[in-house]
Amino acid sequence: MDKHAGAVSELVDQLGRLPGVGRKSAERLAFHLLRVPEAEAIALADAIRRIRSDIRYCQACFNLCEEELCAICRSGDRDTTRLCVVEQPRDLMSLEQSQAFNGLYHVLLGRIAPLDGIGPDQLTIDALVDRVRNGNFSEVIMATNPNVEGDGTSLYISNLLAEFPVQITRLARGITAGSVLEYANREMIADALVGRQKL
Ligand SMILES: [Zn+2]
Repeated sequence: MDKHAGAVSELVDQLGRLPGVGRKSAERLAFHLLRVPEAEAIALADAIRRIRSDIRYCQACFNLCEEELCAICRSGDRDTTRLCVVEQPRDLMSLEQSQAFNGLYHVLLGRIAPLDGIGPDQLTIDALVDRVRNGNFSEVIMATNPNVEGDGTSLYISNLLAEFPVQITRLARGITAGSVLEYANREMIADALVGRQKL
């Protein structure tokens, strides 16, 4: 028998599914939301609803955005000869925060992970190849995470792109092997970009 009333119990269950939120934290958050002014709690609910209804993927790079193209793809100030390939929108955000890259991005929306049943078809690799074929990129920087799956994904893509006249590089290993791009700090990412090597 659950000790909480139905709605509270449901909220605790939902919050408890979030990464890093255990049962105790979920209960604390739920009771916090009961105590704060109603408008504050509703604002949180609305923000959650909005990211699901208004946010979509950029049609060019698959970054998250609210319009057809993201702000980076719409900007006229980016270097359109360099393309940086990342696994997730949050990796793109880490690279943007480093302010060390002014080119365009391509978000794969994952990495090839045979053990999890994720193959190349489930990623945005076809769109990437089309972009490289039709764009005027001189360099494609592989910025997948430095672990087995990220490296495998990067190798798979670089083989596909080998037929095009672009230089393919990857981030330097300033980021410790196995670490995840989203947790790397700004300086590490900037170093990794500056020191990028030919793949
Ligand atoms: Zn975009």
